[in-house]
Amino acid sequence: MTDLPLPPADAEDRRAIAPVICYPNETLPPPPLALYRAAREGAVKVDEVLVPARDARCFEVPAGHFFRISSMEGPQVGDLNLWHRDDLNERFYSGKTRALHGTHITAGERMWSSFPTLRPMATLTADTLGWYGIDAYGGSVHDVIGTRCDPYTGNLLKGDQYHYCCHSNLTRALADHSGMSLTEAEPYVHDVLNVFMCTGFTRDTGQYFMKASPVRPGDYLEAFAEIPLLGALSACPGGDCSAEHSSDTAACYPLLVEVFAPEEGALEGWVSPTVNGYDRSHGRGD
Ligand SMILES: [Zn+2]
Repeated sequence: MTDLPLPPADAEDRRAIAPVICYPNETLPPPPLALYRAAREGAVKVDEVLVPARDARCFEVPAGHFFRISSMEGPQVGDLNLWHRDDLNERFYSGKTRALHGTHITAGERMWSSFPTLRPMATLTADTLGWYGIDAYGGSVHDVIGTRCDPYTGNLLKGDQYHYCCHSNLTRALADHSGMSLTEAEPYVHDVLNVFMCTGFTRDTGQYFMKASPVRPGDYLEAFAEIPLLGALSACPGGDCSAEHSSDTAACYPLLVEVFAPEEGALEGWVSPTVNGYDRSHGRGD
């Protein structure tokens, strides 16, 4: 570009300043993973929901239970929404989860809820793709940087009317589960955890990229419900997201959600996290 401003004399010095982590997370209380994993050993399956390709389904997970999302039949990405089962205003906060843990999350990290509760909704306890790490392109798995594919952006970019984007799939699933109309349900749909999706940002232009997911049938991501959860999972029309989404051209497969209940007494000492401790006076306390 020709209209860039001339760099100052100390431009390189300014660029060379080392970054600092915005939210050092060492003070976050560590999840009791050993307790969770021991409780998972004796847990029994109490429910399962099959999510059809290019569609979404809801599922409920009581606090203290586990849920597992599994790849079936072929590589497939899933878009996950979470709400407090009894108050849909408390929902997964992808942006703050990203700020606290990074662009992608794995076992040992948490899915945090929106303001004003800001507490752990779920703790990831097992991830068979945990070996992937960060590849040479800067790509990694299970991102909290994408939003969810949606028909509005598709319309903006291509002028079309496509009805099976994750946003619409999640809206239909929530409406069907809750008895709300589509119009009532839609505002509760929020930015997702992109389960199994492999994404990053290009270093040269900073653009969001996706690439074929490394997920294979049998791979799974498992989480512990810290509070009572209502979940919705969409099997993205992008399939493994190797080429495109927001259309019916990609090969798509179902995803399986299973819920597991630990044995009585297996979570000795665990308590469901309380809402955030900020007093909400916002400087007007009196
Ligand atoms: Zn999608």
